[in-house]
Formats: sequence, C-alpha cells, structure tokens
Amino acid sequence: MNQQPASVPSTTQQGTGLSLSCGYGTDRGLRRELNEDSFIASDPVFAVADGMGGHEAGEIASGMCVRALAGIPQIATGDRSITAAVLQQYLLRADNSIREATGARAGTTLTGAVVVEQMGMPYWLVMNIGDSRTYRLSQGRFEQISVDHSEVQELVDAGEITQQQATVHPRRHVVTRALGTGDETEADYWLLPVEEGDRVLVCSDGLTSELADEHIHRILSTAGTPQDAVDALIQAALRSGGRDNITVIVVDARNVMNDAGAATTAPRHDASAEDEVTLPRGQAPQATTGPLSQEEQDGRDSEDSTEAPR
Ligand code: MG
Repeated sequence: MNQQPASVPSTTQQGTGLSLSCGYGTDRGLRRELNEDSFIASDPVFAVADGMGGHEAGEIASGMCVRALAGIPQIATGDRSITAAVLQQYLLRADNSIREATGARAGTTLTGAVVVEQMGMPYWLVMNIGDSRTYRLSQGRFEQISVDHSEVQELVDAGEITQQQATVHPRRHVVTRALGTGDETEADYWLLPVEEGDRVLVCSDGLTSELADEHIHRILSTAGTPQDAVDALIQAALRSGGRDNITVIVVDARNVMNDAGAATTAPRHDASAEDEVTLPRGQAPQATTGPLSQEEQDGRDSEDSTEAPR
C-alpha cells in the first residue's frame, strides 16, 4: 500500500480561518522493483513512511504505519487537538503490529507534520523517527526541521564528518531508529507556530539522497501550487538518478490568524525574532530548535525545561 490518498479536498479551511492546501506524489524510482514508501495526506496529518526489509516486508511495515495514523479519530472529525503523546501511542501501536506481522524483520521510518491548535493558534507538530525528512520554507527561510536518526548524523553531530561528507558516506543509509525493528521506537517532536505563507515539505530519502538542499529549496520556492512543487521535485529526483523510491508531500498554509484574531498578510515577526514564540511560556511550547521534552509531549507544563532530550 503506497498511497493513502487524501480523503479531503486539497484545500481545507476550519474555524480559525487557517487554510491548508496540499499536493502529494510517490514514484518507485528507476532502480527499485517495489515502492516501499507509504504516505498519508489527510488534514490534519501529513506524513511519509519509508519501509525497509525487502521482499515486500518494507511495504507492509510502512503501510501498517500510515494505517495506524489513519486511525486517529481527529482525522475523521478534522479536529486539531492531536498531541505528541497521542501520536506516540499510535506509533507504538504501529510498532507492535509491524513486529507481529514481520517478526521484527521489517521496519519503517516516519516523519511528517500534524496541524494542531493551542490557545486558538495553529502549530505544526513535526514528528520524526528515522531518516525521512520534514522541511519548512517560512518567511523566506528554508530549513530542515527533523533531525535524522542515522549513523552519519551521529558522525556529523560528533564533528567527525561534515554534512557534505555524510551525503556520500558508505553507511549513509543506516538508520539508528525505526518502527518495527530495534529498541528505540520513540519519535522526536517539534512544535512550530504556523506562519502566513508557510510551505512544509515531507519526503522520503529517495528525494534528499538525489537532490541537495539548495536544489530542493529552489524548486520549493519557485513552484506555484503545492502539487506543482511535488511534481517538480519528483521529476528532478528522477533526472538525478532515481535510485530509491521517492515520496513527497507539500502543504501550504494561508490565512493564518494573528494574535488579535485577524488574518495576517505580512510576516508576523522581523528576522531577529524569527525563533520566538509569541505566546507566554507555560501557555505555549517554546522549543523551536530541539525536540519536545516528555512534559511538552504530554501537554504538561514545563517551565523549567528548555533543553530538549535526545
Ligand atoms: Mg528510501
């Protein structure tokens, strides 16, 4: 099961006025026999899972993962009340069913963004386990939100290799966390205020192993609709070799309400304040640069915690 089609119109609008439009696509690529990626693009959940295991096991694992997410009741109701703690429950459920179905021989990555609301304000709740990636183009700035769980990322973090060297390292495909295999099944979570005009990209490593970030940035910032961006990214990855399955979701946010309840048409912050959340601490999660702490995931107050655990 590669495609979990969007069961909603490509543009949805809710009580806060926030309007989301999304495009999505997946391609087997030019070298692989099977497409083991799966995805779900169904407001408020936009996520990509990249299965591994061979002999269709990877496809089973990634499919089980997105089916588990599709079972979150808020997808049916369109309610934006999902928390990281709730997501983690569904991921553990997915982890169990993958283990049972494949005898822990297959696994899957998962990354994506869930649109949630806190105190009437919309946020991207970004999740990640493994080396699929979530990026955001916001106020002209393009950045990778998720941090890979991979051997090469650990080497980069330790200062042993550069990000550039990681892209050609022989062990660049080895993930250190996944669902269905291994000990670590905890995802990392980030919470970012939705800014007017945000464009979020969720993709499998079949895109990022073919295209440098600058190339992705260029396409993302010049393409018109989200679907135009998806199609252009997939075509570029195929032209670059298409050595792996390629899955891409692009979500645009428009008509974001500002603090006074009016739709904003201009950037809400100047560049120097870009990392700041406008709500007081304790009312809104403050981490924009690291994963959420356990308290934040549970929606508990965490005034003394700014350092995020790994
Ligand atoms: Mg892959």
